[in-house]
Amino acid sequence: MQAEYHNTKAPHLIIIGGGFAGLELAKKLKGKAIKVTLLDKNNYHTFQPLLYQVASGGLGSDAIAYPLRKTISTLPNVAFRMAEVLKIIPEQNKVLTSIGEYTYDYLCIASGSTTNFFGNTELEKNCMTLKSIPEALDIRSCILQEFEKALSQSETKNVDRILNFIVVGGGPTGVETAGALAEMKSTVLPADYTELDSKKMHVHLVEASPKLLASMSEESSEAANKFLNKLGVKVWLNTSVQTYNGTEMKLSTGDVLQTETVIWAAGVKGKNIDGIPNEKMGRSNRYKVNAYNQVEGFENIFAMGDVALLSGDKNYPNGHPMVAPVAIQQARLIAKNLFSLISKQPLIPFAYVDKGSMATVGRHKAVLESGKIKTQGYIAWLGWMFLHLMLLVGYRNRLVVFTNWMWNYFTYQRAIRIITRPFIKASSN
Ligand SMILES: Cc1cc2nc3c(=O)[nH]c(=O)nc-3n(C[C@H](O)[C@H](O)[C@H](O)COP(=O)(O)OP(=O)(O)OC[C@H]3O[C@@H](n4cnc5c(N)ncnc54)[C@H](O)[C@@H]3O)c2cc1C
Repeated sequence: MQAEYHNTKAPHLIIIGGGFAGLELAKKLKGKAIKVTLLDKNNYHTFQPLLYQVASGGLGSDAIAYPLRKTISTLPNVAFRMAEVLKIIPEQNKVLTSIGEYTYDYLCIASGSTTNFFGNTELEKNCMTLKSIPEALDIRSCILQEFEKALSQSETKNVDRILNFIVVGGGPTGVETAGALAEMKSTVLPADYTELDSKKMHVHLVEASPKLLASMSEESSEAANKFLNKLGVKVWLNTSVQTYNGTEMKLSTGDVLQTETVIWAAGVKGKNIDGIPNEKMGRSNRYKVNAYNQVEGFENIFAMGDVALLSGDKNYPNGHPMVAPVAIQQARLIAKNLFSLISKQPLIPFAYVDKGSMATVGRHKAVLESGKIKTQGYIAWLGWMFLHLMLLVGYRNRLVVFTNWMWNYFTYQRAIRIITRPFIKASSN
């Protein structure tokens, strides 16, 4: 029973989005003199860093999703409503949602990001994306369906095209996805599809810049490239995708690849909501915010996480990286600054503490950097697993993920090789 939420006359804060930033802010405000409504279009929190494992059959979706109500029910001054926010009306302190309108004293936008195709509608129509659980399940179905389809082909050229998988974007998501696909080639194909020649499956990773994992050191980038090569992934650096029509991809090198499956991990942009004037939007569709995460021109509206573009930090002239630690640290500071704002005290400016970055390519193959520490291979892989387990929300999820990882490790298998909801490609419509 959330007595305090309904009884309190405290100021009302609406948080849009129960991702890393929104959920952290709600938790930090537990029991404080503020009434909080958390709105999210889903009733669960998604642990996006492990989406690629759902897409490649290593984990089930419930292992990386956590019911928002489970957390919110422990916060007496916070209520959750499953609702999509359709519009913000700042001049009336109001948001319009799929279940009605809500008024606020303070608003915090934490709606995250979405895939960026940089205006290329052909790519948007034909490529798969990996930003949500439904999208990860689509990719899993699509890969398994392609394996099934390859079995019924009489012409070699069709089999080659069907078993050609392309990942675009050499950031952590692209690297991890390409590595996972390559592991499927050596585990799932020989085990389940004994009639198929697994050598016919090829994985390509296409990256426009000269290096993989652009935000990491040269050493880590080269190690990731070496690991991918070892797994048989063909890495294309300095190469951009020109066109892809659903079966044929043209690259800037002049090469043409035949493929039916392209996973686009080459860009993200802020998932902004209608209502805040366009001039408040900065690079990559993110809300321009000041050093305290207040949206330019609005004292009572904050934006945080992927959707916020904080200017003025000389270390991040183009905004902070769209990663979970930035979202969490901004939420923690807003939880403090909100009360300073209410009591008209000075606010503390945001300063990002970068604790490092990492990416995994496959079994015993990862890269990890933290301060002066740079490590690659087995130790980095253990570190990556440990940190991801600790960051997952909920003990059950940690246990499920750990058990799945152990199963996959000792059996050399991917546990979830099922097509629960068939995927229909846009190009086949
Ligand atoms: C595949 C993948 C791998 C990643 N790997 C890593 C990694 O290894 N390490 C790392 O640090 N970061 C990683 N990231 C980035 C990290 O997940 C994001 O930086 C982080 O999720 C940002 O948190 P956020 O709270 O801003 O947004 P999110 O966590 O995306 O949360 C946004 C929330 O807002 C909700 N929402 C959106 N629009 C509306 C609306 N209109 N109405 C209601 N609700 C809405 C969404 O449902 C969602 O719950 C990865 C991202 C992806 C996609």
